[in-house]
Amino acid sequence: MKCTLCDKEALIKISHQNRYLCGKHFTEYFERKFFKTIKKYSFLRDEKTGKLHTKIVVATSGGKDSQVVAYLLAKNHFRPDLLFIDLGIKEFSEESAEAVKQLSERFSLKLHVVSIREKIGFSIKEIAGATGRAPCSVCGLVKRYWINRFAYDNGYEVVFTGHNLDDETSSLLGNLLDWSVRYLPRGGLRGTVDHPKLVKRAKPLALFTSREVKLYANLRKIPYSRARCPLGKGGVRTDFLKVLNRLEERHPGIKIRFYMGYNRNIHLFQGMQKNPLRECSICGMPTRLEVCAYCSLIEEIKRKLSL
Ligand code: SF4
Ligand code: ZN
Ligand code: ZN
Repeated sequence: MKCTLCDKEALIKISHQNRYLCGKHFTEYFERKFFKTIKKYSFLRDEKTGKLHTKIVVATSGGKDSQVVAYLLAKNHFRPDLLFIDLGIKEFSEESAEAVKQLSERFSLKLHVVSIREKIGFSIKEIAGATGRAPCSVCGLVKRYWINRFAYDNGYEVVFTGHNLDDETSSLLGNLLDWSVRYLPRGGLRGTVDHPKLVKRAKPLALFTSREVKLYANLRKIPYSRARCPLGKGGVRTDFLKVLNRLEERHPGIKIRFYMGYNRNIHLFQGMQKNPLRECSICGMPTRLEVCAYCSLIEEIKRKLSL
């Protein structure tokens, strides 16, 4: 298939626009849309004062998505710091750390590492084993907590993450199918900042599919880890994504419409929150309960392992 804009061979179809693009036109499209999203959702500016943020951190896992975010910000002179959460998942974590290190050296970016084993005393796999919880749910909870905690403790104004459209829509579909209403108010493109200890979140890849991000990372030769997490195998999210991809093939643009519709209506879910945010009685971070989900997990580990 030929590129819609020139005579070259197309490398990808942008399904919601029904366009085929060659490498050159695709990278132009990708970079334009990346910065347009940042501008539209004020990811780099304080919405109240209009001032440009200067304390920026990219929470990077070493995977293609967050590495692309760090690369594009660094290449355009925004100089983010990098935060790598070391999950202690053997070769997977080692390979991921190496990719992050390569990127930080290439652009001389400051790299911070938070080790979960150092913070909790156990790896994600051990915590999951001890508590009987699913590894990905433990991992998500621990990562969310430490990313925000690190950013808050170190005075960052915004945390950039690599969530793409596939991550966002599969997680949204999962939350709807499970009726996990408590997660629905906080899954949008524009992270809610309704507590002074919740650092602003930015997801500039949320309107790109995983395939688009991968192609961009490969075309620009951005270092990223190809390692797959051994704990994620057989996760239900993969099935949700397969369903969404089949729907997208038959009804191009359905994923982006699903996600944008959710963003337009997210205030409805935010209005459903019963308990106001307050500070956790153990760690002082924001929660709607007496004890936050992270501290409850730590208490559970202590109980189960009789520490
Ligand atoms: Fe964490 Fe699951 Fe992703 Fe592995 S697959 S890094 S356990 S969320
Ligand atoms: Zn072209
Ligand atoms: Zn807490």
